[in-house]
Amino acid sequence: MFSAIPSSFLPARCAFRAPQTFAALTIGFLIAQPVCLLAQTAAPAAPGQSMRDRVLARILGPATSAFTPEEIANMQKLRDAAIADPYALNQLRHLTDNIGPRISGSPQAQQAVEYVAAEMKALGADVTLEKTQVPHWVRGLETGSLVSWPAMTPGTTQKIVLTALGGSVATPADGLTADVIVVNNWQDLKALNPAAVKGKILLFNKKFDKQLAAQQGGIYAYGDAVQYRAAAPIAGASVGAAAVLVRSVGGADYRIPHTGMTMYVPGIEKIPAAAITAEDADLLANLTSQGPVKMRLTLTPQTLPDAASYNVIADWKGTEHPEQVVVVSGHLDSWDLGTGAIDDGAGIVVSMQAIHLLQKLDIHPRRTVRFIAWMSEEEGSQGAATYIQDHAADVANHIGALESDLGAGHPDGVMWAGKPELGAWLQPVAQALEPIGANTFRSSPETGEDINVLTEKGVPSFAPSQDGRYYFNYHHTPADTFDKVDPRELSENAAVMTVLAYALADSNEPAPR
Ligand SMILES: [Zn+2]
Repeated sequence: MFSAIPSSFLPARCAFRAPQTFAALTIGFLIAQPVCLLAQTAAPAAPGQSMRDRVLARILGPATSAFTPEEIANMQKLRDAAIADPYALNQLRHLTDNIGPRISGSPQAQQAVEYVAAEMKALGADVTLEKTQVPHWVRGLETGSLVSWPAMTPGTTQKIVLTALGGSVATPADGLTADVIVVNNWQDLKALNPAAVKGKILLFNKKFDKQLAAQQGGIYAYGDAVQYRAAAPIAGASVGAAAVLVRSVGGADYRIPHTGMTMYVPGIEKIPAAAITAEDADLLANLTSQGPVKMRLTLTPQTLPDAASYNVIADWKGTEHPEQVVVVSGHLDSWDLGTGAIDDGAGIVVSMQAIHLLQKLDIHPRRTVRFIAWMSEEEGSQGAATYIQDHAADVANHIGALESDLGAGHPDGVMWAGKPELGAWLQPVAQALEPIGANTFRSSPETGEDINVLTEKGVPSFAPSQDGRYYFNYHHTPADTFDKVDPRELSENAAVMTVLAYALADSNEPAPR
């Protein structure tokens, strides 16, 4: 029946072996690929090779693998142990419930550094604290209320639910009161006469696209909207606004604001910046369309001098090449509104679990598996910058880098950044993760904020490819708490991190780069 496919069609359509991008993974590809694989089995068989073996050899890929049968067996053991072992969940409960929010420079961030270092030492890892200087911003009071608007009930006010953006400067202690002006995007701002904005509170009402988040993953909707959170105070100050508000960058219902870092640049006045809830943004859009709206805004954050803090580094030493390392990591700091469970307590504990399972199963790979708890990702990745400085001469010895920083949703596989050959090299790892549904490996230009510089320097890098449909409903909100993490899905992420870190650390030859 394969003769029904014109022979001229086959070579061109069958030239590729694996989709290199998510976009390439089309229905056409999914149908064409098995047909091509099977059609190619019409090639002459090796003596004694059955049709079944020929078909399976085609489907399973090249017979040569970077891994021995014993290594494949270890991957399977680590996968199953990760699923069964509550270590990561218990560590997450402690980090979130007992220690709590871990904003840069805070006593809780320091407590978390000491706690994680002690836990890694208890496993027998070689622990160092790598000193770094981090921002120390402290949230103060934050209130907003409308004091006049069209058709208001005389003598009343109306609450606006908001939260200061990270790094924001303060309003006067007793607040500022000004008219509100609403724009939807940069184009709207460009069309405005600056005189109309001067002295006012400027709201950027860019909607977080929930449909896009549901269809393609929240990261796409986030990328679209987060530029307003980052640059609003600069753009607002450039037209003389007294303060800026942004519609929260995230998908939360229930009138919850999302915080996150904002930016200032030298030479442009620093003005206060807050995120308001999506519901309050809609309210302001409606009322300002009817007539003048006046708001009172009070923010009293403080920016203290930079503080000393630490990356926690814990090495599970390699037996043959201890100088070669595979980084397995998450970021230990969090925002202060919730307790940092999905962002990024989850990334920390699934990385801790990799070391825990190597210890528990007494597995000692050829290369060093290096756990890193990065500090201050949320406020500019100062910990990662320090690491790259301290290890600049040692980048060539970084064989791979993993970071988990998109929550704890079910991982359907792995995103990897590196040479195209890496895709085929990873196939046995994908097969080991197939029983937990984590075998879709796809290339991606970026994998994690803290490992970006390593990626740019040519280190193969990786992240679990998590279900991101709901992550941004809780991200940077008071609702980022322990209960948002599903125990089974957390353990699947631990399995991905552990199996992949082990594979990179124990393969005979390092992964292609
Ligand atoms: Zn994060």
